[in-house]
Amino acid sequence: MDWDLTGYFHDFEGYETFVSELEVDCKGLLTSLHSVPPLAPVTEATWASGTDGYENILARFAHASSYVGCLAAAESHVPRHQQAESRIASLAAEVSKLSLEFVRAFRTADDATFEAFMSKPAIATARPALERWRREATHSMAPDLEALAADLGTDGLHAWGRLYNRMTSDLRFPMVWPDGRRERLPVSQRRSLMANPDRAVRVAAFRGGNEGWSGAAQLCAAALNHIAGTRIILDARRKRPSSTHAALEQAAISEATLHAMMRAVSGGASVARRALELKARAMGQTAVGWYDLEAPFEVGEPDAFIPWETACARVSRSFHRASTDLGSYFDRCVAQNWIDYRPRAGKRPGAFCTSSEVTDETRIFMTYQGTAGDVSTLAHEAGHAFHAEAMRGIRPLARQYPMTLAESASTFGELLLADGLRKEGHFDDAARARMLGEGLGDAVSFLLDIPVRYAFERAFYEERRKGEVSVARISELMVTSQRNIVGPVLEVGGEDPLFWASKLHFFLTDISFYNFPYTFGFLLSRAMFQRYLEEGPSFMGAWVAFLRDTGQAEAHLVASRTLGENLEDEMFWRRAIASLEPDLTELEGLAPKVFKPLP
Ligand SMILES: [Zn+2]
Repeated sequence: MDWDLTGYFHDFEGYETFVSELEVDCKGLLTSLHSVPPLAPVTEATWASGTDGYENILARFAHASSYVGCLAAAESHVPRHQQAESRIASLAAEVSKLSLEFVRAFRTADDATFEAFMSKPAIATARPALERWRREATHSMAPDLEALAADLGTDGLHAWGRLYNRMTSDLRFPMVWPDGRRERLPVSQRRSLMANPDRAVRVAAFRGGNEGWSGAAQLCAAALNHIAGTRIILDARRKRPSSTHAALEQAAISEATLHAMMRAVSGGASVARRALELKARAMGQTAVGWYDLEAPFEVGEPDAFIPWETACARVSRSFHRASTDLGSYFDRCVAQNWIDYRPRAGKRPGAFCTSSEVTDETRIFMTYQGTAGDVSTLAHEAGHAFHAEAMRGIRPLARQYPMTLAESASTFGELLLADGLRKEGHFDDAARARMLGEGLGDAVSFLLDIPVRYAFERAFYEERRKGEVSVARISELMVTSQRNIVGPVLEVGGEDPLFWASKLHFFLTDISFYNFPYTFGFLLSRAMFQRYLEEGPSFMGAWVAFLRDTGQAEAHLVASRTLGENLEDEMFWRRAIASLEPDLTELEGLAPKVFKPLP
């Protein structure tokens, strides 16, 4: 391994002792909390010490789990790492049982009792987590009903998701290659084929793939109907006001924020459509099919190999330009050997950043192969790392932030790098077009593709309330969403009626509407970056304050007190979309010079 993990544990034996003690303590706390009656003046002191106990377990668990995550990603073939992973997964389930005890404690407590508890000095700074549990308690059924729902969930709600996974892991489709070769491929390979630079390959994977999916459509529709049906009943019993309510809670976004953002996205669709038109032109076309959305943006010759040292120097210079704290923090990550980057057999794909609240150290995992995209991934993960650093010293119960805000921190890192590279100015027209094209590709994903999924899911839940929805009707809802949102740049016949069946996200049973948080993260980081461009490095103080506060409250509250922004106002999101304008205009200007002429 490249990275030094001794900051976590001196050796694996040290880890094993640590996790054994943690298991015992976790079990002990669970037993003792389970016997405490709900929050009331007489149990207040017990729940206060229970909060401390939980927080202690939480920090130690995060430490152990971060370490195992690093080992398993870097050397996935080592059996003891795989065993450690499954042991940590069991422990995670035990730790989550602890938080359910707090939900139970708060469910029947009246406001006065809850507020009195929260006003204790040792508890006050843990408010974010406690309020979350309190809200969860407000939207829960009586404990015995929740227990029944959880038990039935194994063979009900979650079983539909598992059935979908099992069925799709066996599903194959006929692939007819452009040279006439035929084979039957697993549907899991279709996604990478639809990102192939050759359009004929994409079309073949699309058509053959949908032949495969249409054979499974009845089963997929049954799963989708029953997942949604179960949720509709549970939401009503839990007094959740809308189908998006649970997802909004998970994303820490208010309903008003979501609506303001979606209004701006639909009003600003023309901006994203222009980005997609440019993608079409880069492919030598005037319009695209749904199967072109993941196609690479290819212009000119690919970039030459960028050595690792050059990559680090580029990220470092770009970060230093914005803030010495950020730049020096990144330099420290490199110098202390906190990054595992070399390609190696047995390494898992993908990239992530992980950190420990026990040691305040972070680690970055990636497979660096010298492309411009890899340099960008490094800046992305370093953005996550700096987020963890900004939260140093905050108690664990006040630093749990949602995915929406996590991705804002990392995307900001990518934008700083892109800006730094542009200012250093070592690009010819084609390289510059490629870079702009990649960036605008995100706009297509987050402002067209994701809103299509959101609009579809809303429409589907709406109809599902009245009864089961047929395969034909589900497909019609999907095509309508694609046509309405992508508009004329989606060629007629280029829609994907079975996208609802092939997209795993619709079948996740732990979370619904797993779409809008992506758009939120994209636009929020763009808006913040726009402020950085306007205000210069002096903006970084507010940005760090925002990062530090991300675990404290819902996004609009954090943004309002640290940045003075109103996320519930459509104007905020419109400004974020308008920030794409300069890149669009520049690429439109470069287009005649660098793109193939249209046929
Ligand atoms: Zn990320």
